[in-house]
Amino acid sequence: MAGELATGHTDREGALADSCGRTVKSLRISVTDRCNLRCEYCLPRGLHAFERPDELLSFDDISCIVRVASRLGVNRVRITGGEPLVRAGVPDLIAQLKRETTVREVAMTTNGMLLERHVDQLAAAGLDRLTVSVDSLKPERFKAITCTGSLDDVWRGVRKAAAAGLRPLKINVLVLKGMNDDEIDAWVELTREHDLVVRLLELMPVGEGAAQNLAERYVDLTKVRQRLTQDYGLVSTSGLPGNGPARYWRIPGALGVVGFITPISDRYCDTCSRFRLTSTGELRPCLAYEVSVPLRDAARARDEALLEARFASAAALKPMGHAWSEGAITTIGMSRIGG
Ligand code: SAM
Repeated sequence: MAGELATGHTDREGALADSCGRTVKSLRISVTDRCNLRCEYCLPRGLHAFERPDELLSFDDISCIVRVASRLGVNRVRITGGEPLVRAGVPDLIAQLKRETTVREVAMTTNGMLLERHVDQLAAAGLDRLTVSVDSLKPERFKAITCTGSLDDVWRGVRKAAAAGLRPLKINVLVLKGMNDDEIDAWVELTREHDLVVRLLELMPVGEGAAQNLAERYVDLTKVRQRLTQDYGLVSTSGLPGNGPARYWRIPGALGVVGFITPISDRYCDTCSRFRLTSTGELRPCLAYEVSVPLRDAARARDEALLEARFASAAALKPMGHAWSEGAITTIGMSRIGG
């Protein structure tokens, strides 16, 4: 039932769980709300109001929070933003998390613009996996969507990441009518010869994405998958690393796979094991609801017992499911929550 509250508790192994039996396994950490791109559905072009540097969690604060989270059963963290690579020293944060916490996996989501410059340091720091967001295969269109992006720069970064061993590499493609829906087949074709995980995303009514002119351009990717299954004979595939929201399919014999992230047309709330941490230390148990629990004061005091209690409160606030399909929206944008 959408919106109903669950109760936070720890199960027999000490893992944090809600009353639906969902254990919290993954934490997405936004290290900044700033971004070097201005995608229409994500960040308004004229926006200049960003968090002040003194309001951000320090790397030591983040490490302290992740240490507590991993004790409670979180085994995967993903560094995101905003654009994580616009914050100085992010490879140092990754090295610190690998050194000081017991999480099994540290991943990152990036727009790839600064990847070529940083990827060797990221790999050396121990980054396990990478997702790069690329909404078009056409350079002119990519620039129009992102305002300041260069597809060339992004692909150079992607190639260097693959060469540095960050495989399988995931590519996120947010699909919108009239923006890039005519490129879906080209992305599927790309997976024949390339060891890439191409993930097609539905627009969520979050921040800018909730604006009426964008909501009207939403594409139902369950229907798209049904059409692609007929056209390409896609077969369902499992066993990919990570435990995200995507469901995966493959053209028989292809090197890569195609993923579908369908929060609206085929939602996955019943298996959601994610929390999100904003750059200022608000812990959000669900992307769809404006509830959060503050962690910054406890993290700055290095009060691990208080952090554990705050995680339990957040688990208790985790709703069973979103209500986007019934018209609800999330007013705070993805770049602030951490996408
Ligand atoms: N800057 C990084 C990047 O571009 O990947 C990380 C942050 S970005 C907010 C993470 C992902 O969120 C991107 O793949 C982006 O397409 C997606 N995103 C942003 N707004 C969205 C929305 N309203 N609905 C669905 N996905 C969205």
